[in-house]
Amino acid sequence: MDKVNILGVKVDMVGIDEAADKIMEFLDEDKVHAVFTPNSEIIMRAYRDAEFCKLLNGADLLTADGIGVVYASRILKKPINERAAGYDIARKVLKKMNDTGHKLFLFGGKPGVAEEAKEKLLIDYPNLNIVGTRNGYFKSEEESEIVEEINSSGADMLFVCLGAPKQEEWINRNKENLKVRAALGIGGSLDVFAGRVERAPEIFCKLGLEWFYRLLKEPWRIGRMMDLPKFAVTVLLHGKKYKQD
Ligand code: UDP
Repeated sequence: MDKVNILGVKVDMVGIDEAADKIMEFLDEDKVHAVFTPNSEIIMRAYRDAEFCKLLNGADLLTADGIGVVYASRILKKPINERAAGYDIARKVLKKMNDTGHKLFLFGGKPGVAEEAKEKLLIDYPNLNIVGTRNGYFKSEEESEIVEEINSSGADMLFVCLGAPKQEEWINRNKENLKVRAALGIGGSLDVFAGRVERAPEIFCKLGLEWFYRLLKEPWRIGRMMDLPKFAVTVLLHGKKYKQD
């Protein structure tokens, strides 16, 4: 797969459909695959933290979540066609899993959210094989018990929704002990599946203004969002220094 090196993070040049197909292929391979969907905030974190950058690049699939990352790929002359957000990829994967019968475990969110998401998902995908749920609030000493719960459910696919960078770090830390074939770090997706959080209306997404919609709805994100302009400036000033393969 072609990749674009954005400030050290090697993002796969795939859209939503290609990413979902790739993830379905992972389910047939006998190893744990990590899938992350970095946005500009996450890439800025990786830019500042070499260890985190290495963690991201160790993933089996990295997709461009956010219009900022798509623009960065254009500036670097390796354009990614579309934004491939975790939520959208997950929807495609769920549709496919509804036919294949693969087993899914939902991990993350406040108590009750994963169960609510399960109920709602079964309305849209009645054959979906959801074999377990677990909220995302735990002490570090409970971690091995959570891994055990996931493994004994027999899940092939794991959605990890702890927000970034928690979910990426959790997957990386537990990869060796997990038996699932694919672990997807997909942020607040369970909240959306559960109907607790609404996605930005289509028009905001089309115009590349989803960040603005989120800012209106969740103004406390302003601090984190300041990374978006910083990201743009950093890519413009330093992006070309990174070697493209
Ligand atoms: N969350 C969690 N455990 C934690 C912290 C957060 O399960 O220790 C959940 C939280 O309930 C929410 C999601 O992680 O469902 C984070 O969502 P957000 O939209 O902030 O994700 P991001 O934008 O960081 O990807």
